[in-house]
Amino acid sequence: MNDTVRGEEQLSPVDLYEKVKDVPTNEKVEIITKTLVGIKSVNGTYGEVEIANYLIDFIKQIPYFDAQPERLWEQGLQGDHLGRKNVFALIKGKQESNKTVLYHSHMDTVGVDDFGSNQEAAFKPDVLTEQFAEQDYDEELKKLAQSGEWMFGRGSVDMKSGIAVHLVNLMYFSEQVEHLNGNVLVMFNPVEENEHTGVIESVNELLKLRDVQGYEFVLGINNDFVTSLYEGDQNRYIYTGAVGKLLPCFYIYGREAHVGETLTSVDPTLISATINRNINNNMDLAEEIQGELVLPPSCLYQRDQKDFYNVQTALSSQLYFNYFVYKDSPQDVMNKLIEKAKEACVEVEEHMVEQHRKFSHVTEMPTSNSLSWNINIYSYDEYIDQLTEKGIDVEGVCDRVVAENSGLEKRELCFQIVEALQLADPDKTPKVIIFFAPPYCPHNYLREEVGTEKEIIDHINEVLSEYEQKTTETFKVKKFFPFLSDSSYLSLHESDHEIESLIDNFPKWEEIYPVPVHDIRSLNIPSINMGVYGQDAHQRTERVYKPYTFGTLPFIIRALTEKVLNN
Ligand SMILES: [Zn+2]
Repeated sequence: MNDTVRGEEQLSPVDLYEKVKDVPTNEKVEIITKTLVGIKSVNGTYGEVEIANYLIDFIKQIPYFDAQPERLWEQGLQGDHLGRKNVFALIKGKQESNKTVLYHSHMDTVGVDDFGSNQEAAFKPDVLTEQFAEQDYDEELKKLAQSGEWMFGRGSVDMKSGIAVHLVNLMYFSEQVEHLNGNVLVMFNPVEENEHTGVIESVNELLKLRDVQGYEFVLGINNDFVTSLYEGDQNRYIYTGAVGKLLPCFYIYGREAHVGETLTSVDPTLISATINRNINNNMDLAEEIQGELVLPPSCLYQRDQKDFYNVQTALSSQLYFNYFVYKDSPQDVMNKLIEKAKEACVEVEEHMVEQHRKFSHVTEMPTSNSLSWNINIYSYDEYIDQLTEKGIDVEGVCDRVVAENSGLEKRELCFQIVEALQLADPDKTPKVIIFFAPPYCPHNYLREEVGTEKEIIDHINEVLSEYEQKTTETFKVKKFFPFLSDSSYLSLHESDHEIESLIDNFPKWEEIYPVPVHDIRSLNIPSINMGVYGQDAHQRTERVYKPYTFGTLPFIIRALTEKVLNN
């Protein structure tokens, strides 16, 4: 940090409460947001614990929780090396009703490498705004910073302003218990930006609240950031569901050769390249859902397994993709990928046959009858079945790899398992094995055909049209929040059969990524995202738009909450 970046005073939870308790809603949200941006809570650091503690101390200042401290509690994440935790605060309405609306936000942010040598300013909205307002290299940014309508800073829009909105509504409802026909539970989670462990562990706590204490969760409202979807887009998007995600992986086992006999090889890098070209950014693989932002798969990793130079072609290679799912099941995705991999392998085979024919022609040598470039394609599930039939101790091999590689990166560990199985297989012909590795995000959305979910859609539409009249905003309701969010883990639509097909194609699910799919499905909280609005999340110019986020959004969430609880 350079000396010209002056420090801003960081308010204690007690001082923050004193400062905001009597000011209007929009000011409350703004002051709290700025204070929370000042608490560094980068994913994977102790800051995630510090912000949780800060929030607990702040909520304690609210008279309702001072009088009923048992309504504010934390849940430590099991075995977490940093001691990260979920924070819960519950307002119980005086009108007897079990109906409960769940508000949730994540407390972590991405890192600040994008700020270069200016990292300290990332946590100081006023300093950053001043810097942007004074610089001369980006006129557009200068104008935005001078407008006074935006708050800059890491986490400003993703998503400390979201926490602030929920906190302010928590304060509001704590003074409305007499009229509150139901309950409001606020939950703040760590670890959203990568593994989603916070919300995944909360499933347990939420089930306890439902099954032991009888709370009925009628709606979950996440307020993770929303943004424009195209240039000049002025819409405010409300999402009635969340996109899901799979990470399909390809373990490709070929046939090595000396480069002097290269045409006898089945080169896994060539297979990998062809599969990649068939799948990567291929819109044929994006689901067709009219009006939704559907995206094709993108390659996140492609390597061969050679670790040093020599003149032998590679023996195996690895490839994986980010794969968004909207309505398709994991089995649908697996079927599509097997199809694409088959096409790629046939293409490679035909290419090699043709090249070998040309080679024989030029060199005036006879063509080989025994050489084959055929490549088999298996789903992990099919491959396991085959090995088991051959009498191979699949469980034993998997357990050994897991035991010998504790702490290994999760995707690498999955590839190691598949490789070990391949090594145990006496069949050494070229093959492609397709499996799923972490993370897995379930997809969900409110369904028109389910009565209770349709009611919520209607309530949302009523509230939004009311606010379109009261304000100058235009709202658009869409099904799938496109940026991956914690809401994925609160509800799940897959059948038992579909869940099985996912787990069966996921090496060592129970040890490596035990998402409690059955519990999530049982919990099944209809989940929506009414997000804070801004631009450039995960970038140096991350910023939240103040008029809408601080002045309108809190009231929309409030109105919807009351409508749902009073229904
Ligand atoms: Zn976020």
